[in-house]
Amino acid sequence: MTLALDAPTVSRPTLTIDAGAVTGNVATIRGYTRGEIMAVVKADGFGHGMVDVARAAIAGGATRFGVTSLDEAFVLRDAGFTQPVLSWLNPVDADFAAAQARDVEIAVPSRAHLDAVAGRAPGARIHLQLDTGLARDGASPAEWPALCAAARRAEQRGLVTVVGVMGHLPCAAQPGHPANEWGRRRFAWGVRVARAAGLRPVDRHLAATAATVSDPASHHTMSRIGAGLVGIDESQTVRLRLALRLVAPLVTVRTVGPGTPVGYGHTWATPRATRLGLVAVGYADGLPRSAHGRAEVLVSGVRRPVVGQISMDMIVVDLGPDPAACPADVGTLVTIFGWGEEGEPTVADWARWAGTSEHEIVIRLGRRLRRVVVNCATEVPA
Ligand SMILES: *Cc1c(COP(=O)(O)O)cnc(C)c1O
Repeated sequence: MTLALDAPTVSRPTLTIDAGAVTGNVATIRGYTRGEIMAVVKADGFGHGMVDVARAAIAGGATRFGVTSLDEAFVLRDAGFTQPVLSWLNPVDADFAAAQARDVEIAVPSRAHLDAVAGRAPGARIHLQLDTGLARDGASPAEWPALCAAARRAEQRGLVTVVGVMGHLPCAAQPGHPANEWGRRRFAWGVRVARAAGLRPVDRHLAATAATVSDPASHHTMSRIGAGLVGIDESQTVRLRLALRLVAPLVTVRTVGPGTPVGYGHTWATPRATRLGLVAVGYADGLPRSAHGRAEVLVSGVRRPVVGQISMDMIVVDLGPDPAACPADVGTLVTIFGWGEEGEPTVADWARWAGTSEHEIVIRLGRRLRRVVVNCATEVPA
């Protein structure tokens, strides 16, 4: 689908967020699980705008939200969302009282966190968090039985309610990886230990996007979907719809002779006479410098290489010598990445050129870009 871009939209670099893609992606992912969908809108909705992504996810059937910090949870409450919100990565001295006052559920990865929540936020609804294979967030199996027992004692004293148990798989992007089987078993064990301690966690959640679409054995009562909201499935199981498009006008176009070095460090020189187009988007806007030498953009329907170093504020595009092959003038729109339907690069292309993940490309897109939210796709391409 071609997005009609009106003149004010394209007068400067513009990041277009297709909220309809988010809605459609949630609907698609719901087809893979009978569990509830928690929309993970951390890191400003994976760089797409937390509130817009949250609203679109609810429209697609998500019933609650997950974030890391309490501050992110409060942004959702300030925006008026009344759905359950879970926050799972907090220092032990975080403002749990404010979380409780604003009806934010808290993940508890350690005994110290349990004591802090029970002491400062009596009545809190908590999810006990078990490490299921990343050695990162979540209590170790060695600590788990004692954490469950302590949580039960706090529950009996009316200080907390254990509403959930959560884990996270280390290698869900590789569905056959043995660490996933191991993580599933550890999670099942963790739930059994919690029940044996007298806890009755109604929300049991292990799967994120990749496991939800590729590994039904990882499903429990709920899935936590982050990357999938914005069109990224690292397991490559399902074709989701990308939600971002970055377009900028050519600022200048110049004709240069052969052997003209371009950009800082003179890392590249024109092999022949050509036209060079300047685009006012650089690494300050989130383009990865490491894509140097590989990156391309779409100009007048043609892929053209980004030449020379990626600068803080700009890139240079080799438009080629022939205006008939690639018409380009001041103001011509350049698609840096998009939904891939018109031959433009995608976020996955940029991730490959930069040697990183799609996640890292989308979350780094800077505040300086003009942001426009549209709703032009609620269907997922077949
Ligand atoms: C970020 C995060 C998610 C979302 O994972 P995706 O793979 O992006 O869907 C789920 N759970 C936890 C604990 C996370 O930190």
